[in-house]
Amino acid sequence: MESRIGLGYDIHRLQEGRKLYLGGVEIPYIKGLLGHSDADVLIHALCDALLGAIGEGDIGEQFPDTDPKYHNIASSNLLEIVLGWVRKKGFQVINVDTIVIAQEPALSPFKKHIQENLARILKIEKDCVSVKAKTNEGLGELGRKEAIACYAVTLIKKECFHILLSRYPGSPEKGSCGQDFH
Ligand SMILES: [Zn+2]
Repeated sequence: MESRIGLGYDIHRLQEGRKLYLGGVEIPYIKGLLGHSDADVLIHALCDALLGAIGEGDIGEQFPDTDPKYHNIASSNLLEIVLGWVRKKGFQVINVDTIVIAQEPALSPFKKHIQENLARILKIEKDCVSVKAKTNEGLGELGRKEAIACYAVTLIKKECFHILLSRYPGSPEKGSCGQDFH
């Protein structure tokens, strides 16, 4: 069974007058993240992790900020597109783990909602999505509340049907794991 891992990282500046979105959830705060899209740093890191796992570069290459099509786009739409590419290559997402580094706002009241929203978009169980939040202990630009950063890691697995097709085009009726195609 072919498994792959992917790693993603992103950082965006905070600016007054913008809405703050993390994991597709609007978080009440005096500032929001600056970017061409809605600048959802968590979803961007997650997209990069998934793109890394399937060897398809990064979010900047796939969705260039010079393209007006992506101006103010909801990043959850980008995640759905990336997930489509993952599935098209025959993989399913097993789990994702993320760390958001934000001095402010406190994210603990929103973590469950973010987890549920990402699980819904990725079509996996809630306990396969982890959202952890940390401050930066007041250090550097993150600690000065000038930016929010995020790390994400994912594991994906090739579905039996696709393994079988790639090995034996023409194919018997059971997947290599002995189960019916799924
Ligand atoms: Zn970004």
